[in-house]
Amino acid sequence: MRNDLLYQIRCLDHAPDRIVLHWTGGGPEPNPVDLSSYHALVGQSCRIYAGVPIAANMRRIPPQTSRSEYAAHTRGLNSWSVGVALCGMMGAKEGGPYGPHPITEEQMYTAIGLVAAMVRTAGLPVTAETVLTHWEVQRVMGVAQPGKWDITVLPWAPEITADEVGDWIRQHVSAAIISPTDYLPKIRPLSQTVRSPGGEAPWRKPLDSPHRAE
Ligand SMILES: [Zn+2]
Repeated sequence: MRNDLLYQIRCLDHAPDRIVLHWTGGGPEPNPVDLSSYHALVGQSCRIYAGVPIAANMRRIPPQTSRSEYAAHTRGLNSWSVGVALCGMMGAKEGGPYGPHPITEEQMYTAIGLVAAMVRTAGLPVTAETVLTHWEVQRVMGVAQPGKWDITVLPWAPEITADEVGDWIRQHVSAAIISPTDYLPKIRPLSQTVRSPGGEAPWRKPLDSPHRAE
């Protein structure tokens, strides 16, 4: 699914302006409502899901547009915005407790690897204007997001404050772009990630090699 998302970005006429990171406020894997609200979702299994086609938001979306025609992930800032969500935080309270499905470290590193690949494919720089959390949208872009606190807490690292989470994510996204191998041990090697739209990955070809032992 990761390669499907990157392929979608490669096919766009115009690169996205930004990627906004969310949590779904739902269960550990996406339900149909979650899938219709974001472009990419990362489950707590570290599976990556494609939701609404990215191209649906790569336009100026008029205010009266039906929510079924695009991913309505960030109020007032959906045009040219890609929405990536970590599944979880159902029933979470600001300040804790974070409910039965708090977002996890492994899930976050999977999302970071995905976002790194997306910005690299899109040719986007990594700044507070281009890779930001939903919570940061109000502060950075000046578009009010009342009641939205995703992502202001990393439940496994409570010492990182709400103000620091966005920078923490951007540092890791930048590092994942520069030195992707550092991230490989943390990113679960999913079967989906080795499948390209054209078929089997070339490194599976040795099965057909004429040199194989008979
Ligand atoms: Zn959000």
